Amino acid sequence: MKLVVIMFVLLLTAYKLLLDYLDYRNLNAQIPENVRDIYDAETYAKRNNYEVESTKLSLVEYLIGLPISILVLTFNVHSRLFDYFGRFTDNVYFKTFFMLGTLMVLFGVLVDTIFDWYDTFVIEEKYGFNKTTRKTFIADSVKHFVFVRCLIFGGGLALFMHLYFHFGNQVFWIFFFVTAAFILIMAFLNHFFSKMFNKFAPLEDSPLKDRILSLAAETMYPIKRILVMDGSKRSTRLNAYFTGFGKNKTIVLFDTLIEKMDEDEVAAVLAHEIGHAKYRHTLKGLPISIFVVALLLFAAQFIVARDSISLAFGFDELNIAFGLNISLVISSPLLLLINLPLSALMRKFERDADAYAAKYAGADNLVSALKKLARENYAGLTPHPMVVKLTHSHPTISQRVEHLSSLKISSLENS
Ligand SMILES: [Zn+2]
Repeated sequence: MKLVVIMFVLLLTAYKLLLDYLDYRNLNAQIPENVRDIYDAETYAKRNNYEVESTKLSLVEYLIGLPISILVLTFNVHSRLFDYFGRFTDNVYFKTFFMLGTLMVLFGVLVDTIFDWYDTFVIEEKYGFNKTTRKTFIADSVKHFVFVRCLIFGGGLALFMHLYFHFGNQVFWIFFFVTAAFILIMAFLNHFFSKMFNKFAPLEDSPLKDRILSLAAETMYPIKRILVMDGSKRSTRLNAYFTGFGKNKTIVLFDTLIEKMDEDEVAAVLAHEIGHAKYRHTLKGLPISIFVVALLLFAAQFIVARDSISLAFGFDELNIAFGLNISLVISSPLLLLINLPLSALMRKFERDADAYAAKYAGADNLVSALKKLARENYAGLTPHPMVVKLTHSHPTISQRVEHLSSLKISSLENS
């Protein structure tokens, strides 16, 4: 049993390394004709060097993380910690939290933060990609630790354990409904969470505002407010999103987007987002996410409650928190498998939204906006086709430009 679990850990790491390697190997592939104007030779070389350095960093992370995971599993560190904390308390919740908390802080938080720090302030800094200050980085890390790791993970685990002790395997049904509700709420609370990290101000009266309002009128997409978010506090990335219901919709533009793009380009980006909304892509994505959760929980059901797993790793009896941990490892190949059709669907959504934007804001405007986005985000021009198929939620920039050009040609033929 132990060997099987360790094999899964090894296979997963091998898979991630393979994806990194494929992209790395494709870095020097020929740039597609239609995206050659995105970078000049010097910038492109710099961009690729940046990716090589990032890849090396994540390789180091694997080289450190993999042996640690294997040692922790081989030497039953989980159950040893559990027994150790058993000297101070009989409470199974406390013992479990100290066990997982110790490992999480030592290997998760500490190692992750160190690598993140190096990536942000050494590598990204060197290439002029970073805008985060050390203060913002620390504040974000603390917020993430408190809200995500402690409150959401910790609280979720406590709830899971509590329900499991009462309802046994039926807990998976309860958890399914809770998670489904959570996914639905999250879809609508994205803006609420952004507010925790960013500041917002209304867009001032300007030609851009008029342009956006006329686009909204033309596409019959009611907008109540247009806000500008201080995205530049963290990075140079450009973005925009919509939030709210019915006639109370709000557009949020990153300040970087307004700074770097002209009115036509901003309108094209927004038309793309309106396309997503008109085709109800978020709404269509929800049942899919919920189905994925159901599938994972169904798989987890067979793993979590198996006491042979806990026993193999030194526990005296079934430890469901540990079982849950292991089930995440064992079921992740399943997740990768599901990801294949799912990411294909996401890429189709992107193509449809692009076509919508081309209709209402002009294909050329979207092409120039996408190229600016790619340049500002330091996007790669030659990702490996296999990696795109397996993991990308967006078509490559070259594929999108090609698609938009073909739309322009067919609309000319029709008129
Ligand atoms: Zn999109």
